[in-house]
Amino acid sequence: RGGDIIAKKATTIAIVNQKGGTAKTTTCENLGIGLAMEGKKVLLVDVDPQGSLTISMGWQQPDELPTTLSTLMQKAMNDQPIQPGEVILHHAEGVDLIPANIELAGMEVALVNSMNREKMLKQVLDSAKREYDYILLDCTPSLGMLTVNALAAADTTLIPMQAQYLSAKGLEQLLQTIGKVRRQINPKLKIEGILLTMTDNRTTYGKQIDNLIRQGYGRKINVFEQTIPRSVRAAEISAAGKSIFAYDPKGKVAEAYKSLTKEVLADADRQRKLSSERAR
Ligand code: ADP
Ligand code: MG
Repeated sequence: RGGDIIAKKATTIAIVNQKGGTAKTTTCENLGIGLAMEGKKVLLVDVDPQGSLTISMGWQQPDELPTTLSTLMQKAMNDQPIQPGEVILHHAEGVDLIPANIELAGMEVALVNSMNREKMLKQVLDSAKREYDYILLDCTPSLGMLTVNALAAADTTLIPMQAQYLSAKGLEQLLQTIGKVRRQINPKLKIEGILLTMTDNRTTYGKQIDNLIRQGYGRKINVFEQTIPRSVRAAEISAAGKSIFAYDPKGKVAEAYKSLTKEVLADADRQRKLSSERAR
């Protein structure tokens, strides 16, 4: 089918956990750049008014950016045409970014009174979906309107969970929210898996936690084989404006994010095969 233009349609992954400090932002950046290194076209979207992803990608003064995600969401709310191109930033390591800053906090309030309030982010992203293979959403640590918007716009979710603090209750609440979004707004929403972060598998305690989570949730939800080890090098990249692949390419965290990337790609292949078999 030589002459056909095959439009890309991005898979959108929401990186979500209402608990702060579980490595959502770090995972968004490094999985995103990992996918780009595998030849995928990737858009990262900062859906956190704190702008941590924006800062960590190297735009250290997000409040000084003239246009951000909230500019686009405002346009969606006002029924104006959305041109993501006017907002998208290009990172040196080959991914694009829709940045955010504190203005996005106002959006959380504005959304409550708008029509179709759960789908504003989806509207924004639909206008970019053809250009990318993957869109990764870095969610804010709450289950408010912004996170519901991210879940409504996503095909699937990835849940980074800090292995140190067994926060089963928090996870239950998150799964309930995902279930509710699935029933009411986005029936196709999947769970890609739980990613154990900041692990320490050298200690017995670390291994026990890993086992506990796999036994407790592994039957219900995919828990990624690959875990992300704790390392100061990983903590340092938030201020470096680059990924772990550029900052510490030979380190264990770079290696971990590289094989996580492969796992995500392998899962996508498996899904594609399944759905083409079903279509036959
Ligand atoms: P979230 O977005 O869920 O709040 P972050 O990605 O910002 O989490 O990570 C929280 C903190 O932990 C940050 O200071 C970050 O630099 C640090 N961090 C992230 N991943 C690791 C890791 N593998 N080892 C050690 N520190 C990490
Ligand atoms: Mg974050």
